[in-house]
Amino acid sequence: MNANRHRLIVVSNRLPLVFHRESSGAWRVDAGSGGLVSALLPVLRHRGGTWIGWPGTSDACAELDPILTRTSAQAGFALHAVHLTAEEVQDFYHGFSNEVIWPLFHDLQPLCNFDPKYWRGYCGVNRKFAQVIMRNSNQEDFVWVHDYHLMNIAQDLRHLGCGSRIGFFLHIPFPPPDLFLKLPWCRNLIEALLEYELVGFQTLRDRRNFAECVKAVLENSQIVGRGQIVTAFAGAKRVRIGVFPIGIDFNDFLRQTATPQVAAKAKELHTLLPNRRLVLGVERLDYTKGIPHRLNAFENLLTRYPDLKEKISLIQVVIPSRVGIPDYDDLKTSIEQTVGRINGAFVRPGGWVPVWYVYGSLTRIELLAYYRAADIALVTPLKDGMNLVAKEYCACSMEEDCVLILSEFAGAAAQLDSGALLVNPFDIEGVADAIVHAYEMDAAERSGRMRRLRRSIRKYDVFWWVDSFLSAAFTKQLSDFPLPADYAADSVEDYFAPD
Ligand code: UDP
Repeated sequence: MNANRHRLIVVSNRLPLVFHRESSGAWRVDAGSGGLVSALLPVLRHRGGTWIGWPGTSDACAELDPILTRTSAQAGFALHAVHLTAEEVQDFYHGFSNEVIWPLFHDLQPLCNFDPKYWRGYCGVNRKFAQVIMRNSNQEDFVWVHDYHLMNIAQDLRHLGCGSRIGFFLHIPFPPPDLFLKLPWCRNLIEALLEYELVGFQTLRDRRNFAECVKAVLENSQIVGRGQIVTAFAGAKRVRIGVFPIGIDFNDFLRQTATPQVAAKAKELHTLLPNRRLVLGVERLDYTKGIPHRLNAFENLLTRYPDLKEKISLIQVVIPSRVGIPDYDDLKTSIEQTVGRINGAFVRPGGWVPVWYVYGSLTRIELLAYYRAADIALVTPLKDGMNLVAKEYCACSMEEDCVLILSEFAGAAAQLDSGALLVNPFDIEGVADAIVHAYEMDAAERSGRMRRLRRSIRKYDVFWWVDSFLSAAFTKQLSDFPLPADYAADSVEDYFAPD
């Protein structure tokens, strides 16, 4: 079956647009950013289709619909809003999505708030999305649902009589059964996910966890097959489950990095922080990103390797996220106290500052300038679905002379292990030693490693990701998969075989 014959309906929590109310009262609409938007916009423009999502505001919903109609006409594909009340946003988004699924799926169960009201809010909003999809799609369409906010949608669509093919991609990790089974609604979610025809994960680790959870929750279920796509059998249901690691728009990063504006900004950074190697950490303010652990590792480095004082600085950029949520505000305070403690202990008055701390969103030019200026990237999340910053940093290393230090718990580690220095982010001495290793690495090893990283990131870019998911959704019939006796999967290393 040819994927191009089918109209694509993309469904995500947020529309690929950002709405701002200006002081005049008028609405300004900006394009959204991020990997998903840059991957799917060209596909929708080329094939036509529809994007359905929440506009990101509960204000003045009626005013937004005509703006969306006008924007659709310019964009070349349709945009439809799912309007949510403030209460729905609270229970579905802040509650179930961000206080239950986000911490649980990142192995942080003690942070979960299993409030039953949140689950009810989640179910209600997923049903609302399904109703909007039903009104704006037909049986021939392919509905592609994204991420942890919307896991129930296929089940809701089937209840409404939808006969379209429906696929789902989870951008965050999937937890192992010992964590997942703590969720009071674990069976509901597994049953809901098995209503999709194709469920995609970032890594083999996530798919294995999902397969184990299916087997733990549903009696008489079985996972069979090997390779990129396997099949789950549960009662009368057959669902294909695959591994599709998301990539970046490599060529676009390369093109933008090569501009004189980025070079000038990178030079400015070297002037501000002269005669030293720069180590970069950049991420959203989030407890999964391991920022306090990283700062402690840097402090450990300066204590155990005092010769490196004045020869190295850490630039830590923290991008505001989930502002006003107490756990996040506390994390910010704790990060800032740690930065203060390290700088207070090691600073040379009038000269070297060990940690250069920036809190705020960056423009694209600023972000690329940090990538270009840094000799070493320190990407050490405690757990991450993929981690695009690691891939973007490598794409921007045009001279191929930089080093990536990467957490073994980032999804990207499965792909980038042959070029990055892998670390356990909880092992602060191990991370400090990896910084020393990167600092002392000779030019030949640096360029060999970076070349391997960039080759893989270029080949498995975001367009490869879209193509591979859509071809998996359309080219292989379920009957292609015979029923072998046991479940065996090829390793993801085989999957990323070098050229
Ligand atoms: N990014 C951004 N604004 C900034 C700095 C970075 O939008 O000020 C982008 C960055 O380019 C990357 C994304 O945020 O594409 C972060 O993705 P990642 O997978 O590393 O982590 P996530 O935030 O999705 O957990």
